[in-house]
Amino acid sequence: MVEGIEKQKTGFKFGKHRLTVTGVIKNWVFHGRTYRLLTVRTHDNLNYVSLRLYNQTGRFIKQLLVEPEIAQFIFQGFYTEWPDTLNKAVEVFGKEKQIDMAEEECAELIVSIKHLKRNRCGEEAVIEECVDVELMIEQMQNIFKDKLGLWGNIKAEKMERLAKLVEAGGDIRLKEVNDG
Ligand SMILES: [Mg+2]
Repeated sequence: MVEGIEKQKTGFKFGKHRLTVTGVIKNWVFHGRTYRLLTVRTHDNLNYVSLRLYNQTGRFIKQLLVEPEIAQFIFQGFYTEWPDTLNKAVEVFGKEKQIDMAEEECAELIVSIKHLKRNRCGEEAVIEECVDVELMIEQMQNIFKDKLGLWGNIKAEKMERLAKLVEAGGDIRLKEVNDG
């Protein structure tokens, strides 16, 4: 149990722990900023839930560490046993197998969209395949947890470009302007 808590330049921090990311719960992008809810472990094996804020360029700004016992109340609906189950799935089945599964679920989603277009299935079947892919993406975030900064940067870049295209009313020529 960590007793001390002190206010620091970057926000609240429990003591001076080195943190390892053990899982990804959820990412939210708002106005280009990314809020990321993660599970982390200190070097002396204490588990926390971390809410991290990254700016538009994917730069880490600050984090708030919350004890798991409290996180379940604050992040109701997001912090559940599920993320832990997704992390364990990677541990139990192995990275290679889960990457294969991600490939398979993406293929199933493609097929369901094709079926929907030809009225061979309903929207519920597509939603089901979307959820399968969503769960695989969350496992991929776990597999690539050492590169989550890169993940966030690429997402911020793509969101920025999409926002520009949307603003331009989908005018594809904007792409050429940006590239040129
Ligand atoms: Mg499926």
